[in-house]
Amino acid sequence: MKIAFIGLGNMGAPMARNLIRAGNQLHLFDLNQQVLSELAELGGRVSKSPKHAVEGVELVITMLPAAAHVRSVYLNEDGVLAGISAGVPVVDCSTIDPKTIRDVAAAAAKQGVVVSDAPVSGGTGGAQAGTLTFMVGASPEHLSVLKPILAQMGRNIVHCGEVGTGQIAKICNNMLLGISMVGVAETMALGNSLGIDMEILANIINTSTGRCWSSEVCNPWPGIVETAPASRGYSGGFGADLMLKDLGLATEAARVSHQPVILGAVAQQMYQAMSLRGDGGKDFSAIIEGYLKSK
Ligand code: NAD
Repeated sequence: MKIAFIGLGNMGAPMARNLIRAGNQLHLFDLNQQVLSELAELGGRVSKSPKHAVEGVELVITMLPAAAHVRSVYLNEDGVLAGISAGVPVVDCSTIDPKTIRDVAAAAAKQGVVVSDAPVSGGTGGAQAGTLTFMVGASPEHLSVLKPILAQMGRNIVHCGEVGTGQIAKICNNMLLGISMVGVAETMALGNSLGIDMEILANIINTSTGRCWSSEVCNPWPGIVETAPASRGYSGGFGADLMLKDLGLATEAARVSHQPVILGAVAQQMYQAMSLRGDGGKDFSAIIEGYLKSK
């Protein structure tokens, strides 16, 4: 299949590589020339603009940092909508707010183009291994067009509803994750200061009602889970700045819909403070450092 792939960063580049390996012909666009040259060596065609990239393709995929990039890549003079033919399906995999993708979809609909959203979870490891989870906001008809291609980059393809609902699923899940990590960090720090063996405390939590992903898989206390970022100096994993971005999307979406998200807003401010201290590149479980005495 001839596919335009725009946005070839930490996630987009390995996703595009998997599509090339699966035998697709890719039209590539990014602002970073180095990644374009690397992917061209694998057989991709480098394009001059999003408009140029989408000419003559059968599908368009975008994987961009944030809403402003998505708006410009789609709506600018040399953007996707300036070059695309009616009827070509489009899917944006970036994590952005639901309103932006719905606005872009409405603009595209005027020229007979259907835009869906399919944000991912699974991180850069999942992108490389082709095991991402896609949360798809699309009509059932459009989903069946996208599914075989998404399956070349991921393992789970979950239909969430119409366009925008993929983003809703993603930001709701990540808000809960951000909150639950703060809860586990606070709890582990309390146990430590009261003098219980930390492994015993973690085992109790993980076999009791406090159990969650943040306690069981990504416990913020070093040494509890060997494979967790906490056991390697909080490197790798899911950066606090990315969590901060997702909590910003959740609280902004909540503001627009007049829905209180009290704990989400508190968690957002905690990751904001972490980022200000210069720790935004650490795994988000390092939020526990704010609860511990400095050494
Ligand atoms: P990234 O910053 O590594 O890559 C973004 C790419 O987009 C860069 O190569 C950049 O040059 C390119 N870009 C920016 N503006 C552009 C423009 N106008 N035209 C063309 N290209 C442009 O980001 P990433 O880590 O690949 O993340 C992409 C999206 O996926 C984000 O929305 C992020 O929140 C989401 N996400 C990331 C992860 C992760 O672990 N990194 C996990 C899940 C979801």
